[in-house]
Amino acid sequence: MNAIKLLPDLLISQISAGEVIGRPASALKELLENSVDAGATEITVQLFQGGIKLIRIADNGTGISRDDLPLALTRHATSKINTLEDLQKVASLGFRGEALASIAAVSRLTLTSRGAGEKHAWQIQTKDRHLSSPEPAALASGTTVEIHDLYFNTPARRKFLKTEATEYAHCDEAFKRIALSRADIGFTLQHNGTIRRYLRPADARLRIAAMLGDEFAQTSVFVDERAADLRLWGASALPNYSRSSRDNQYFFVNGRFVRDKLITHALREAYRDILHPDRHPAFALFLEMNADGVDVNVHPTKTEVKFRDSRALHQFIFHTINKALASPQLVSAASIS
Ligand code: ADP
Ligand code: MG
Repeated sequence: MNAIKLLPDLLISQISAGEVIGRPASALKELLENSVDAGATEITVQLFQGGIKLIRIADNGTGISRDDLPLALTRHATSKINTLEDLQKVASLGFRGEALASIAAVSRLTLTSRGAGEKHAWQIQTKDRHLSSPEPAALASGTTVEIHDLYFNTPARRKFLKTEATEYAHCDEAFKRIALSRADIGFTLQHNGTIRRYLRPADARLRIAAMLGDEFAQTSVFVDERAADLRLWGASALPNYSRSSRDNQYFFVNGRFVRDKLITHALREAYRDILHPDRHPAFALFLEMNADGVDVNVHPTKTEVKFRDSRALHQFIFHTINKALASPQLVSAASIS
C-alpha cells in the first residue's frame, strides 16, 4: 500500500496560513492590500479585541461580481496576473491568490461585495468548513470582508497570539505602512468601537507628518532625486531625531513596504558620519523603479525583494541621502510640515 497521500485542500490552506497569516496584523495587511489593489479611495477598518475577535474592512473599490465571489476564496485564484510575464512586472500589491483562501481556512469569513453593474451586493460565508452559495445583500458599493475568530479551529496557532494590546499594536503598524504608502486614499481605523486614526486624502508630506508625528516632520529633510529609471523621494530625519530602536523606519519600493539588507546598509552608510552607532536613523522613503528591475516574488509575505542591479541602487540611495543630510538647508525647507 502506498503511504504517500495528497493533503486535503483545507489542510493545505491551513498550512499556508501558518506562513502568511501569522497574526491578526498579517490578515489585516492582506485585506488592506486587496482594497488598495481594487482602486479604493476610502477604506475603513474596524477591529475588536486586537483583531482576534473581529477584523472588518470596508472599501469603495471595484467590487467582485457574484460569480467571482467563490473564486476569491479559492487558492491560487487571482484577477491580478495571468502569465509569467505578468509576474515579472507585477504592479499590484497582491498576485499569489492565496491570502483570502488562507484566512478563510483559519477563521469564519464573510465576504460581501457589489461588482460593477450588479443591481445589489452578494454575500458568501465560510460555514463549518463549507462555502455558502451567494445570497443577496445590501451594500452601496465596493467590498466588505469580516474575519471572525481568527484561528478558532487551529488551537496550536491560537496559543501564539499575544495580548489584545500587543495584537492591536501590530495591526496599527500594518495600517500605518499602507496609509503611508497611499496618501491619496482616505483611511479610518477603529478599535473596540473607538476611532484611533482618521486620515483624509492628503499631500504625501502631510501624510508622512500625520503618521510619523510632528517632531519627525520638523527634524527631517525632504528628498526627491532621480537617476536613470530610479526615483527616491520622501523624508529622512536629521541626527537630532535619532532613535534607540528601529521604529520609524519606513522604506517602500513601488508602493510596497519592504525590509531589505541592501537598503538598510545603504542608509546606515549615509548616516555613518553623523549618527552614533547605537542610534538608528528614522525615515519614510519611497523608491520608484521599473517593475522588472525588482523581484517581489521572494517570500509569501512579500516584504522581501530582490533587485536586479543592486550595486547601482545602493549607490543611488547612499548618495541621495548622504547629500541631503550633509546640507539640509539646500534640500527644500528643512521642515516638511
Ligand atoms: P491576490 O490579492 O493575490 O489576488 P487574494 O486571495 O488576496 O489574492 O484575493 C483573491 C482575489 O479576490 C483578488 O485577485 C481579487 O480579484 C479579489 N478581491 C479580494 N479582495 C478584494 C477587494 N477588496 N475588492 C475587490 N476584489 C477583491
Ligand atoms: Mg491579496
